Amino acid sequence: MTGRVLVVGTGHAGATVAGLLRQAGHPGPVELFGDELDLPYQRPPLSKKFAEGQLEQWLRPAEFYREQDITVRLGEQVTAIDRDRRCVWTDAGRAHGYEHLILATGAEPRPLPVPGANLSGVVSLRTLADARVLRKCVEERRTLVIVGGGYIGLEVAAVARANDVAVTIVEREDRVLARVASPRLSEILAAHHQRQGTRIVTGADVVRIEGDDRVRAVVLGDGEEIPCEAVLVGIGATPRDRLAAEAGLVCAQGIVVDAQARTSDPHILAIGDVTRRPLSTGSLARLESIPSATEQAKQAVAAITGAPPVAPEVPWFWSDQFDLKLKIAGLVPPSPGTVLRGDPATGRFALFHHLGGIVAAVEAANSPAEFVAGKKFIASGTRIDPARLADAAVPVRDAVIQ
Ligand code: ADP
Repeated sequence: MTGRVLVVGTGHAGATVAGLLRQAGHPGPVELFGDELDLPYQRPPLSKKFAEGQLEQWLRPAEFYREQDITVRLGEQVTAIDRDRRCVWTDAGRAHGYEHLILATGAEPRPLPVPGANLSGVVSLRTLADARVLRKCVEERRTLVIVGGGYIGLEVAAVARANDVAVTIVEREDRVLARVASPRLSEILAAHHQRQGTRIVTGADVVRIEGDDRVRAVVLGDGEEIPCEAVLVGIGATPRDRLAAEAGLVCAQGIVVDAQARTSDPHILAIGDVTRRPLSTGSLARLESIPSATEQAKQAVAAITGAPPVAPEVPWFWSDQFDLKLKIAGLVPPSPGTVLRGDPATGRFALFHHLGGIVAAVEAANSPAEFVAGKKFIASGTRIDPARLADAAVPVRDAVIQ
């Protein structure tokens, strides 16, 4: 079994690490296990482009896995890890030995804990199959209620509105994107969605979903009934860390890993949405993003092949909403100073969040140069002059205090 690597999970993290292992010259067997039946696919289009074009965008063509001698076992779920014998068990009743095990089991949508959440027409979004259902809802112009104003909710709302679907977003907090964006960005994006005709209800609790065989209305805590023909639940995801926890690996709402993707077992690594990982600031966080998954895939490959550790990346991700291409880097600290560069009314703007002039996060819309500069500032701890940075006539680099 020397050198045999088993990867559990065929999402972005799992598929990427398998390919990178071969690229790094790993000579031993590489096997990829997935409980989904589809080859690894791009997930971003599922919320950003689900109404048009091809949904099935494979990360790699089927030949890639053959050529690279990567065994892909689709529809085979890993059900247990035997750490002493260094093998996993699958639902096919088979045991597979490993030298290195990489857990890339991802996260799953949090279910809405109210009566009626199982009615037909209530959907969540994670897989290709989910996106196909959502596409049908949009094609049939079904009035849509979206529970949860996170990025998934807002991206789906934008696509649905662009296809003339009536949309209401119901958010529990007092603003959309409360968990992940600055208050200013929340405000700008909410206004943008409202201008496109989406109703946004904040500070609202869904207490039940009404319907017979199909969903008919979402009922809020204040008694309001919002009629609808479909409901998307987008209230966050929970890490699929049960396999790891049952095997006794250290987990804390996610598998705890170090900056080399190592778990508490030296033969087991974990990458992607399932992990609670260190940030460059030293704290631990769960990042649900493709750049983070890719970075951790590189870390895992370095750990396995003995290559030098990879340099840490500033966390970043992107979102598309209507004509806005958003790119966000860093984490917005509590009570930062905020510089607005550009004009939200034009759809081109960037928000730089800083602590005493040291940039901690940038939220850019249709402003790739500002995004790239902001990400570099965060990585290098650069100090900027807020007044100069706010002046779009001054080049960004001239706002740097040397
Ligand atoms: P996602 O990836 O699904 O967008 P996020 O955690 O980024 O996940 O966003 C989920 C949003 O759903 C958050 O803004 C959160 O406040 C909201 N939310 C969570 N639970 C509820 C609920 N029961 N009703 C309405 N909104 C909710």
